[in-house]
Amino acid sequence: MKLEDPRLFRHFAWINGEWSHSLSGREQPVYNPDDNSLLGYIPLLEPEQIDHAVDAAEQALAGWRRIRADRRAALLMAWYQQLLDHRSDLATLLVNEQGKPRREAEGEVDYAASFIRWFAEEAVRINGETLSVQIDGTLPGTIKEPVGVCALITPWNFPLAMITRKAAAALAAGCSVLVKPANETPYSALALAELAERAGLPAGVFNVITGEPEAVCAQLCSEPRIRALSFTGSTRVGKLLLAQCAASVKRVSLELGGNAPFVVAPDVDVDEAAAAAVDARFQTSGQDCLAANRIMVHQQIYDAFIEAFSARVRELRVGPGDCPDSDIGPLIHRDAVEKANALVDDALSRGARLVHGDQRQAPGDNYFMPTLLAGVTPEMRVWQEESFAPIAIVAAWQDDDEVIAQANATEYGLAAYLWTHDRRRVWRYIRELEFGMVAVNSVKMTGPTVPFGGIKQSGLGREGGRTGIDEYLNTRYFCLGGLPGPSVTGA
Ligand code: NAD
Repeated sequence: MKLEDPRLFRHFAWINGEWSHSLSGREQPVYNPDDNSLLGYIPLLEPEQIDHAVDAAEQALAGWRRIRADRRAALLMAWYQQLLDHRSDLATLLVNEQGKPRREAEGEVDYAASFIRWFAEEAVRINGETLSVQIDGTLPGTIKEPVGVCALITPWNFPLAMITRKAAAALAAGCSVLVKPANETPYSALALAELAERAGLPAGVFNVITGEPEAVCAQLCSEPRIRALSFTGSTRVGKLLLAQCAASVKRVSLELGGNAPFVVAPDVDVDEAAAAAVDARFQTSGQDCLAANRIMVHQQIYDAFIEAFSARVRELRVGPGDCPDSDIGPLIHRDAVEKANALVDDALSRGARLVHGDQRQAPGDNYFMPTLLAGVTPEMRVWQEESFAPIAIVAAWQDDDEVIAQANATEYGLAAYLWTHDRRRVWRYIRELEFGMVAVNSVKMTGPTVPFGGIKQSGLGREGGRTGIDEYLNTRYFCLGGLPGPSVTGA
C-alpha cells in the first residue's frame, strides 16, 4: 500500500502513548478483501496488556477530566485538522482494508472528521443547571461529569467514522477511551491513534487495543474500572456484551443491526424513486446498517419501478475500490459472499424471481454481483435478515395499513425510508413507522448534528447530535444548604 505518509500505517497496538507488540508474540494477519493479499499483522494482546491499557486510561483520566473544556476542545480541533490534512492517506487505508470505492472512502474520512469537529464544539457547552427550590435555605443544582474510562468496540464497515462518532464525544466529555476496532479493519484505527498523538492528545487518553475479539471484549465488559461501553456491530454480539456488562452495571450504548424498509407510494416519479432506492440499497456495497433491506413498492407502479430499478442496477460497476469506475467493491470476506448466496438460494427456492445478478461475472472470490429479486415474501430469509450484501429485494403492496404493519414486523428498528409527495402519508408514516430514524424523500440522513440510533433491538442510546455527548456524562445533583432567606431561585 502506498501512502504519502507511511507512518500512518501502523502494525502495533497503541497503549499509553506507545506502540505495543503482543507479549506472547501472537499476531493475526489482515487481508485486503479485493484479492486476499496480505496487508500486515496486528498483535493479539494478552490479558495483562489489556489490564495495563486500563491502568493507563485510568491514570490519564485523572488529568484529562480536569483540563479546561476549551483546551480539550482545542486539542480535538487539532485532531480534526490532522484528519483533513491526511484525507488522502486515510482514504487509501480504508480502500485497502475495507474494500470500499475510493469516493466512498473519502466521504467516510470527511464524515469521521465531522464528528470530531462537532464534539470539539460541544465540549464547551457541557452545562449543569440550578433547580427550582423546594426546601427553604437551599440551592439545588446539577453538575455534569465524565463517566470515566470508556471501552469503544467498533465494526469493519465504517472503520474510521464508527470510532470518531464515539471517541470524539467521550473525549469531549472528559473521558479516556480504549478502542477495540474490528480485526478485519484495524489500520484506520491505528492511523487515528498516530494522528491523535500528533494533535497533542495526552498519553493514555486515546488507546487502541487489538486482540481476540471474544476474549478482549469479555475482559473489557467485566472490568469494573471501565464505566461505560459503547458498541457498534451486530445485534447478536451486542446482546452478548450487554449481558456481560450487567455484572459491573456499566453504562451501555448499542448501535446494532437494521432491516430498513423503503416504502414507495404510488404518487411518485418512478425513475426518481428507483434512483434513490438504488443509492439506499447499494451504498457501502450493501454492507451498511442503513441499507434499504426491503423495498416495498405500491402495486400500481410495481412493474414500472422494477424496470427502472433494474436498468440502474445493470449500470452499477463492480471492481476494486482503487479503480475510479467502481461503484461496488468486494464484500469484507468470503463468508459474507457465502451468506449472500444462501439468502438468494433460499428466496429462489421459495418462489422469488431473479431479475438481475449473474455471480459468474464476479471479478474475484469476495465479490458479489448486484442482485435484484422480485416477488419476495416475508417468510424468506432475505426479507427477515439484514443481508449486508448488494442484494435488492422488491415486494408489492396495496394498502397503507398493510405496508406499515409489514414494515414494522421486524425485531429491528434502526432506519426507514418513505418516498411520496402525499403530505397526509408523510406525517402518518413518520408517526407509525417504528424506527429510530425515518427519511422522507431523501436517502442521506446522517451527519454530526443528528441523533443517530435505533429503537427495539437496533440499539440503546444515541450517537451524534446534541444528545450524543450525554452517553459519556454523569448528571450529579447537589443541594447547597444553610443559605439565608427563604430561597435563591424560585419560590
Ligand atoms: P460484529 O458484531 O461481528 O462485530 C463488531 C465488533 O465486535 C468487532 O470489533 C468485532 O471484533 C467484535 N466481536 C465480534 N464477535 C464478537 C464476540 N463474539 N464477542 C465479542 N466481540 C465480538 O459486527 P460486524 O460484522 O463487524 O459489523 C456489521 C454489523 O454492524 C451489522 O449488523 C451492522 O448493521 C452493524 N452496524 C450498525 C451500525 C449502527 O450505527 N447501528 C453501524 C455500522 C454497523
